[in-house]
Amino acid sequence: MLSYVMPKGMVQPQLIIYSKEVADDLLLSPAFCESQAFADVMTGNELAEGSRPYAMCYGGHQFGHWAGQLGDGRAINLGEIKTDNGLCHLQLKGAGPTPYSRSADGLAVLRSSVREFLCSEAMYHLGVPTTRALSLTLTGEKVLRDVMYDGNAAYEKGAVVCRVAPSFIRFGNFEIFASRNDTLTLKKQADYTISIHFSHLVDREDKYLAWFSEVSELTCDMIVHWQRVGFVHGVMNTDNMSILGITIDFGPYGWVDAYDPDWTPNTTDLPGKRYRFGNQPMIAQWNILKLANAIYPLAPEEDKLKDIVQQFKSRYTEKFHVMMMQKTGLYHKDPEDQHLFNHLEQVLRYTETDMTIFFRQLALVNHDSTDVDIIRIIHPAYYEPLSGDKSTYILSWFHKYRERLAKEKCNLNERIQKMNAVNPKYVLRNYMAQLAIDEADKGHYRLLNDLYTLLKKPYEEQPHNEKWYARRPDWAREKIGCSMLSCSS
Ligand code: AMP
Ligand code: MG
Repeated sequence: MLSYVMPKGMVQPQLIIYSKEVADDLLLSPAFCESQAFADVMTGNELAEGSRPYAMCYGGHQFGHWAGQLGDGRAINLGEIKTDNGLCHLQLKGAGPTPYSRSADGLAVLRSSVREFLCSEAMYHLGVPTTRALSLTLTGEKVLRDVMYDGNAAYEKGAVVCRVAPSFIRFGNFEIFASRNDTLTLKKQADYTISIHFSHLVDREDKYLAWFSEVSELTCDMIVHWQRVGFVHGVMNTDNMSILGITIDFGPYGWVDAYDPDWTPNTTDLPGKRYRFGNQPMIAQWNILKLANAIYPLAPEEDKLKDIVQQFKSRYTEKFHVMMMQKTGLYHKDPEDQHLFNHLEQVLRYTETDMTIFFRQLALVNHDSTDVDIIRIIHPAYYEPLSGDKSTYILSWFHKYRERLAKEKCNLNERIQKMNAVNPKYVLRNYMAQLAIDEADKGHYRLLNDLYTLLKKPYEEQPHNEKWYARRPDWAREKIGCSMLSCSS
């Protein structure tokens, strides 16, 4: 299930940033977190007392195909800390090779580490289930990477993120033992997972089925959140799916600027766009099916497993609908709402529309807003000026929306508050992360710190940060790191 392995040790650990809240949860004092000893532990140069580092063995389906054994190739688990909120596992990403590194170096570059640190914390504050980040530390070492896989390899700064989660167990941790017909280890892995993380199910006769059903539901909830905030994971392989339904492995992920269900941030995914924004629910269900296959030896009840896999779709459809009601500020079900949402989808796709700005502005539209009001409110979301035809088309939806709002008996201020609590004002747009990376590469961390602080309050108005409430700038449209991300990290 795992191999004990020592982090390789780095030349010159230097802390860049750490999360004070995560440190607080772990009862780590600011004095310790700001000491050299912390940077040393966070790169694996020193071990905390009682720590016995290990890497986990797992397999996975990558891009639709069984890829065999993978495992923590560059993640080293330090162990777990008991906190008031339960167990927290600490894992160093990029601290050196493990028995699962295959031919790779087990290291991570600053670029991808900044992206993981910022995004996992941003997701947490958005209310999306996710692993968290405790620290981001430079290693003082250079790491060779060919970013676009085009023969232009170059050295980049090495870094380590210490990430934190109740568990880093993935679907692939079960698939690997099923693939080897090793039912005994599969059962051990499942019993361990259930006893620690689903302990309310331990005594149930149908515990494996009940557990599977919960994993399916948690996964479904996570995807509804991703669709709500416009997050595209980019590599939804089964080895990147958490058994707790939390977002894990921030690689070539991206945030939807202009609403486009066909957009994938991952250049490796471009040929089939398997992991495109609009396909995430379907892929999650496919991954759940793979998990069903893996645990079948423990719960050999084909029909029941199938039912749970099938239910994913109906659960998702229902939860997505409720989420869309919240995003649009509708709180009483109406049989016409499905049409309203379908029509809205067409409107969002019709011309380049910034998803985040559109929904945030929507709260300002009221049942008695005039056409002129609506255009004034909504135009910041559009990448091109709203010409006659375009505004006519867009207004056709708003006319229905206005009528629908009139049926709701919600007070305007209350509605704004409720909508603003689900429609973020600030998300980690791809170009923002890239700007922070460009600065960090030069040794400047101001922007990284600013974005980290900004994204702690994504739903709040922050007048001094209004510049980040803007459409993606034109220079970022086709830029590597901003609209296209490679897996190289
Ligand atoms: P990912 O695409 O990052 O989810 O990685 C897929 C597999 O490759 C996982 O088993 C990783 O641990 C492994 N991997 C990715 N990058 C490296 C690296 N630089 N060194 C060793 N293993 C890696
Ligand atoms: Mg991975």
